[in-house]
Amino acid sequence: MQLTDDELKHLLANNPEWVDVGNLPSNFYPYSFGSIHAKPFTINELKLISKAVVTRDIAWQKRAVDSVISRDVEQLSIGDYFYLLEWLKIHSATKTPTIVTWECTAKMLKHKETGEYIFNDPESLETIPKLDPALYEIEDCGTHNTESLHVSDLRIHQLPEEDWQGLPEGYDFPRMSIYTEIAEALKDPELNMIVGAAQWIKGDTLGEKLKRLEQEKDLDMFNTAMALKEVLMHGVSEHAILHCRKCRITHPYEISVDPLDFFQ
Ligand SMILES: [Zn+2]
Repeated sequence: MQLTDDELKHLLANNPEWVDVGNLPSNFYPYSFGSIHAKPFTINELKLISKAVVTRDIAWQKRAVDSVISRDVEQLSIGDYFYLLEWLKIHSATKTPTIVTWECTAKMLKHKETGEYIFNDPESLETIPKLDPALYEIEDCGTHNTESLHVSDLRIHQLPEEDWQGLPEGYDFPRMSIYTEIAEALKDPELNMIVGAAQWIKGDTLGEKLKRLEQEKDLDMFNTAMALKEVLMHGVSEHAILHCRKCRITHPYEISVDPLDFFQ
């Protein structure tokens, strides 16, 4: 919710659960303000979030977030919003580890007589050139692995703090006010590849942004927006390294999080 300076001062003086979140992934570039305060979720917000999950409507989740932050949720860039949502999950202690199950597709060398394996960890792999290939056969690992992933796997994509020239004229950060429109447009085959760039055009709605693009005589504006999307990507993602318990191979893994996923 958008608070005035006086309202915020009063709130902070009387409610110790409100704290300064610190910097955001966008470094506050998209805003006229330079700080944001928030408080952990209570059961009241969880009710709204439950409603968002059941109705598949992110508006309820946005309302929950809006009620515990000192700024207007609609103004937030989409990257900052999901960062704040993670911050709230962590500070409300509702974040439980994610469980990943995966089937290992790696191959292993097995000694034909002793049955001994050469594992897929870096040190063991280094010994392979010295082995006699005639003595080994290749075996599929095929192990079913289960691992839990933790908050520490969260990666924050921060915009660089220096050399910020500002957005070129006619462009804007994608904000939460158009999030639902973006989600809808992504389902439209004709718009699916366009939305990523279009969200960076100036306009109050995604429809307005698309209209501006349609008025262009060439693709220059589209290409600039595409480039902004690459360069100014910010927010959070979850990555982890998976380890096969049998062959010891490691895999980087990007966890794709459903935006409505909260009670996992
Ligand atoms: Zn394996």
